[in-house]
Amino acid sequence: MMARRVQPPSLLDRLPPVRGKLQADMELAPLAWFRTGGPADILFEPADAQDLMQFLAALPGDIPVTIIGAGSNLLIRDGGIHGAVVQLGAGFSAIEIMADGLIHAGAGVMDVKLASAARDAGLTGLEFLRGIPGAMGGAARMNAGAFGGEIKDIFVGAEGIDRRGRKLEFSAAEAGFGYRRSAFPADVILTRITVRGHPGDRAQISARMAEIAAERSASQPVGARTGGSTFANPLDPKAAGRKAWQLIDAAGCRGLRIGDAMVSEKHCNFLLNCGSARAADLERLGEHVRACVMQQFGIDLHWEIQRIGETAPDDAGGRP
Ligand SMILES: Cc1cc2nc3c(=O)[nH]c(=O)nc-3n(C[C@H](O)[C@H](O)[C@H](O)COP(=O)(O)OP(=O)(O)OC[C@H]3O[C@@H](n4cnc5c(N)ncnc54)[C@H](O)[C@@H]3O)c2cc1C
Repeated sequence: MMARRVQPPSLLDRLPPVRGKLQADMELAPLAWFRTGGPADILFEPADAQDLMQFLAALPGDIPVTIIGAGSNLLIRDGGIHGAVVQLGAGFSAIEIMADGLIHAGAGVMDVKLASAARDAGLTGLEFLRGIPGAMGGAARMNAGAFGGEIKDIFVGAEGIDRRGRKLEFSAAEAGFGYRRSAFPADVILTRITVRGHPGDRAQISARMAEIAAERSASQPVGARTGGSTFANPLDPKAAGRKAWQLIDAAGCRGLRIGDAMVSEKHCNFLLNCGSARAADLERLGEHVRACVMQQFGIDLHWEIQRIGETAPDDAGGRP
């Protein structure tokens, strides 16, 4: 358990009134799939987009804001996150299916739920979302993809709110999707995503989703404390088409450990928290894997997992 940061009494006093839930000095580890990370000074769950807009517009400019989704692609460091952390909850969970196949989803809607809603409406194209744990805001930010599909294939547009509380709209061109990345401005919190599905056969859509679920549990440590793929597959020609996991495996890193942080045996591009790993253990292990791959193949793996927050001052260090 991390030491709680002493809260400067002035911070809460400086926050604007809200309709949503504002909590001070909140542990973030329970909100991240890795179950690591220190506290947030403030955790804010806005009631709706209007509440978020008013909060951001009135929040003093020196207070940083961090958005987190379902925490499935996050390594929150042990020193926690300064300022306000925003997480979108029930106020951003609506799914609206239009007659022409357009689907509006709140950014807090879980990917799996959206895939199921599309299936129930007889719309195909969203089946791949069955394989991605996370919410639609994080999926759009990361251009999440799996099993032959990615967000950019179905994306029509998005709404978001910037740090100054202004509402913005983004077209597919403005989203600037690339491999596991997008070009939404860093300060924008996406609030609603619009995607397109196409008329399809419900039974076939169901069957494909079941196939994806089965393939996932056969190849990934499902239910583990992990952040999914740690590194993006390298685009470096030296990789000659080899995926990150193949390079990690060939570099001899499968099963490596630092304390309770471990390179998964089942899928060696996944890091696992096998018990009480700290974020620093996981990050150090990841950096060690990068160094091994660099040393053996001269290829620089890039973190796909987003590492956020502060390093804890008492980080003692350790080696595999
Ligand atoms: C077991 C497992 C399997 C996985 N498999 C896949 C896979 O096959 N394919 C794949 O692409 N990913 C995979 N991932 C990674 C992860 O699920 C995706 O990246 C997912 O889209 C992240 O969504 P999230 O809501 O959890 O976002 P988070 O992890 O909470 O955040 C990810 C990033 O998005 C930003 N963000 C979150 N919400 C918003 C918002 N509303 N507005 C703006 N920015 C926002 C955050 O600031 C952060 O930078 C896997 C993860 C796990 C744990």
